[in-house]
Amino acid sequence: MKFDLAYCLSLDAKLSIYDVRDLNFDETMAFDSAKEHFQCPNDACRLAFDASNELGTFNAKNVNYVRTPHFKNLPSTRHVEGCPYVSLKTPASGVEADGAETDDGREEHFPSELLLTRRAYVRQPSNAAGAHDSKEHEPVTPSAANHVEPPSHDSTPDKTSVFAHPVECFVSNFDDKDLLKRMPLKIGEHTATYAAFFKKIEYLQDNKGLIYWGKIKQIKDYTQSFRIDFEKKVWFEKKPYSVNVYLSKKLIDTYRKRKAFLEEIKHAIESGRELYCFFYGVTPELKQVPSKKNPEQTFGVFSANIENLDHFIVREAPGLEGK
Ligand SMILES: [Zn+2]
Repeated sequence: MKFDLAYCLSLDAKLSIYDVRDLNFDETMAFDSAKEHFQCPNDACRLAFDASNELGTFNAKNVNYVRTPHFKNLPSTRHVEGCPYVSLKTPASGVEADGAETDDGREEHFPSELLLTRRAYVRQPSNAAGAHDSKEHEPVTPSAANHVEPPSHDSTPDKTSVFAHPVECFVSNFDDKDLLKRMPLKIGEHTATYAAFFKKIEYLQDNKGLIYWGKIKQIKDYTQSFRIDFEKKVWFEKKPYSVNVYLSKKLIDTYRKRKAFLEEIKHAIESGRELYCFFYGVTPELKQVPSKKNPEQTFGVFSANIENLDHFIVREAPGLEGK
């Protein structure tokens, strides 16, 4: 059983595992998922038990993950009868919940919108924590504890502000083309299916403003910036051109997730593994740059400067290998 959301006691809010990862790496927030308490996102179920009835996390703190992050039942986790988060593998009694979850690791919860403004959190004073959910304006009375809400109503993470979430949907479901052609994704004013929104870097001329992705050829570490070179080339007027994106070190230095980001890049440079880059917000354009060997000559390259590190990811993606 994978949870789309979990209730976080100290923030008094329902978070996706991608929200949790974002908070863990955010150096401007005092948040460590290992010390936080996560509970069933079904209000009635959560309120039927005390605060010690918790959920666990998987890949909440690993910067370079391969398997899909998620919340999971712990051996001790209990749910009320009829709770939509009770799975066959983990009955309400919790007896068979041994933590050996056997799902195939796909991200099943597709956000329908990537919000470009970050989600804001307010930490609750500890005495009020758990008393109510700020998203629900109706006070929850003890008698409401027997009411079971429908499975995918307000608990569905319909929108996210964490880029890694739609990227994980795309990566982990890459072999299910029909699903990716069916699921809608909205970013800003543009709506398309996941299949159409994720554009291979070599086809970037097809449309502007998409999520571009491709296999990384190399990452160059310069004084002022990193340059990510893509393996595939763009064909323009019957000629092939290299594609790259630049990451300014100044931008990284002021990034709220600086440490995690540098770890991601360092790992990428040293790992020797096949890595993929995903970015949104800029479209590489044909530029003439001076040749190193012969500075009087120039050559063409499709290039862009990344403007927002929140919408940029370098990661392993085994399902995409050879693509
Ligand atoms: Zn439950």
